[in-house]
Amino acid sequence: MQKQSRHSCNLCGGTDLLPLIDFGNHPVAKHYLAAPTDDAPTWPMRVVFCESCGLTQLVDSCPAEILYKNYVTLSSWKYQPHVQHEIDVIKSLPGVTLDSKVLEIGSNDGMFLHQMSANGFKNMLGVEPAKDAYDKSVEQGIDTLQAFLTPELASTIRQKHGQFDIFISRQNLEHIGGLRGVIQSIETLVKPDGLVMIEVPDFACNMRSPDYGLWEEHVNYFTVETLRHFMALAGVELFHQENILFSGDSIFVIGRKTGKAQASTDYVAALRKRNLAYAQHWPEFAKNITEYLAALKKAGKKIAVYGAGNRVFCLVNFANLAGHIDVIVDDQVEKQNTFMPGGRIPVVASDALYSQHIDVCLLAVNAEIEDKVIAKHDKWVQGGGTFWSVLPPSGRLLPMWQPIGNA
Ligand SMILES: [Zn+2]
Repeated sequence: MQKQSRHSCNLCGGTDLLPLIDFGNHPVAKHYLAAPTDDAPTWPMRVVFCESCGLTQLVDSCPAEILYKNYVTLSSWKYQPHVQHEIDVIKSLPGVTLDSKVLEIGSNDGMFLHQMSANGFKNMLGVEPAKDAYDKSVEQGIDTLQAFLTPELASTIRQKHGQFDIFISRQNLEHIGGLRGVIQSIETLVKPDGLVMIEVPDFACNMRSPDYGLWEEHVNYFTVETLRHFMALAGVELFHQENILFSGDSIFVIGRKTGKAQASTDYVAALRKRNLAYAQHWPEFAKNITEYLAALKKAGKKIAVYGAGNRVFCLVNFANLAGHIDVIVDDQVEKQNTFMPGGRIPVVASDALYSQHIDVCLLAVNAEIEDKVIAKHDKWVQGGGTFWSVLPPSGRLLPMWQPIGNA
């Protein structure tokens, strides 16, 4: 892989970027095809590690205006049992009252703010660029601005609304190339001693599992170390962290804008080692999963994937597994009767497990709802069907899956 020249680090602006994995060029995972012959433009999937701040990130990926033109993943569609827990944690913190002013960026369809409102919070503002999500948020009665958060917008919001007690960003920072703009916005919008709550996927889980289902929408891959650094650069001191099981492992942190946060990069060398171990394991992992599925096919088994989602599409395309998979099933009607971009595998309703006599089904739903899917298809299991999972951190991963030591 060539040394990147144009890209500078999304977090620190550094240009010393260590190439980790080049997965090749792939279509946008959520641009489902109407016909298997449809054209799908492809974009590079190249992962690098910033030698200065340790943020793992994508370079030269699909431009945001193409990615987010039609955003169809409304957050209420996803099962999010941890939301109330997060709100309980916020409510328990010193200084927080139901009158606290709350700002959520990337507030999507307003699901989280709606839940905060159900908890009694009264002063809330959402910022959401995608039109369909914004419309739904307004429908729910949430005060929302349709915009990308920029430092200019932050100044405008401050003029109109003043500063906020609580700044929230959930499953959002991983999508934003301009992290330095977010840091500036936090400086502008958060009151002294105000709180910043962030939830992002935890890349430590990817490195450990290992999980190579990196999705082109996620341009940043945070660990607690880089998240702490991000906060410190905004003058925010991290004081609470916990892992939650959502779309893989996510990390949820809260910090306070004390102005005393010390930005240190002591962690970079150790984090670099873990990133390299993850990257170096990729060719072997791809070979192992290919051989495992090829052996099943050779034994005459029919293989399905359950869940037409971004992470599994990326994994199937990166490891070139489409030739070993007969069909993808999904319970969401909107996705049925389409074709997976890249691998061009048909996506159909889950009764195909029975009608197509599938022998092995690879679960690609979030780990927390695997049990529901298995219970729903008990008859198929009784008839001899076998479920495995291909999305960490499931406890049912294919037997060829081995964790990476010391990650
Ligand atoms: Zn950096």
